[in-house]
Amino acid sequence: MRINNNNYNLINGNIITLNNIVPVANSITINNGKIESINSPNNSYKSIDLNQNTLLPGLVDAHFHLANFGKRLEMINLKKINSINQVYQLVKDKVKEVGPNCFVHGFGWDQTLWENQEYPSKEVLNKFQDNPIILTRIDGHSLWTNEAAIKRSSYNETLLSPMGGEIINDCIFIDNAMNPIRKIIPENSNEDTKRWIQTACDKAMKYGITNVHDAWQDPIIFNSINDLANDNNLPIRCYGMIGSSHLDLVSKVLDNGHYLNKNYTVRAVKAFIDGALGSRGAALLEPYSDCPNSCGLTLITYEEFQEIALRCAEANFQLCTHAIGDKGNRMVIDVYAENYKKDYRWRIEHAQMITYKDMLRCQEFEIVPSMQPSHCTSDMRWMKDRIGDHRTHRISRWKTFTELGLKIPGGSDCPIEDGNPMFEYYAAITRQDHNGWPENGWHNEETLDRMSALKMFTQWAAYGEFSENKRGTIESGFDADLTILNNDITQCEPSEILDTEVVSTIVGGEFIYSTL
Ligand SMILES: [Zn+2]
Repeated sequence: MRINNNNYNLINGNIITLNNIVPVANSITINNGKIESINSPNNSYKSIDLNQNTLLPGLVDAHFHLANFGKRLEMINLKKINSINQVYQLVKDKVKEVGPNCFVHGFGWDQTLWENQEYPSKEVLNKFQDNPIILTRIDGHSLWTNEAAIKRSSYNETLLSPMGGEIINDCIFIDNAMNPIRKIIPENSNEDTKRWIQTACDKAMKYGITNVHDAWQDPIIFNSINDLANDNNLPIRCYGMIGSSHLDLVSKVLDNGHYLNKNYTVRAVKAFIDGALGSRGAALLEPYSDCPNSCGLTLITYEEFQEIALRCAEANFQLCTHAIGDKGNRMVIDVYAENYKKDYRWRIEHAQMITYKDMLRCQEFEIVPSMQPSHCTSDMRWMKDRIGDHRTHRISRWKTFTELGLKIPGGSDCPIEDGNPMFEYYAAITRQDHNGWPENGWHNEETLDRMSALKMFTQWAAYGEFSENKRGTIESGFDADLTILNNDITQCEPSEILDTEVVSTIVGGEFIYSTL
């Protein structure tokens, strides 16, 4: 059902407002995209029965990658596939779907799950002669391809392995050997990017998401989202962060000031200081425990970073910087501290590993840690090997941040993680995987209470984009961005959170998704 009426009451609900005056309500009234009143239905409007379902302020994912997610959804997902024949069948289906000459992309295969656990022979994909096929392995460090792709590349028939790379069975290309194959992939077109963003929005609204913070926008993404907004085809809100390496676009937006086009807002720049812990690319204060010669890498010098910061400060733009390691976080805080202005709300994206001393500086300089709970539960298995027992307490310190009074916008980093806000919320309150491991949660001293976890994906995410005065809680006069669930996730068993279904997603009063 697609309800597009201007005004209505939502009645018989379990409404969690996050508003201190009326924390729980039974009904709310919507008029012209805004919340008109709470608990006083307007008799001249029609009423929609919520059947005691739970209604929350619209869920926000504060760290998302729309275009990448949509692109991922079009690829063949080979994760957890445990037979090579099944991989073959999935490729065959996709080839049929896209037709000759089109590229076929897949990701997530892992030969250790297959019958003989060996790399495939070249014959498997060479059966497809009319389509270049590129299937990336689960770890991203190798790809499996076919003759139709190799012929288009700079490789000649002898297939010599380049420096820092290896080629196995004439079809598996490892590390640097992947580069010549990757070069043949056509550049993302405007049309593709627009379609990916639409596909991603479609999936996001089924997850109950009303708003995403899109954490790296290039000129094609910027143009595509504007096109979609202009055509009224952007169903959810999008808070864009412009990628700092796209200098022309950065200059353009900084010169023109805060930008708003219907559901699309731009007033932030995204930068990177380091990599990730999984690949030992995060910058650490002391060496990796399982690689004593390495402290990881910083991707940018202090001076370069300071220059970006200065430009953002002058234009009154928010700076959002990816920092994972304790040294990466310290560098970011050093520069943020120098540029500090009251209420500038500069963000650290991830803030995954941080010392207490630096957390105190986050408090002092009003820095906003933007965090992704399932990164913690995805990485917890190998974290001890990577950084040693003496440092694991520095990981994903949600509770300590909130005790210092900081607000944490919550996200998924989708498509790195699944993008389902229920999975993020579950990780925030349990620090367990979906099987309930480890028993009491990994470093459970940092587990969040349910209301704080909910705020990460509503009120605090709104704060992270300067919109807590119009969204993130349910109050009269606020935008009617709402999510309706079939479970009360503030009360139910943790395992039930994972199975929670979205009943409706409402943006600006419009039901963009509903099974009501
Ligand atoms: Zn990201």
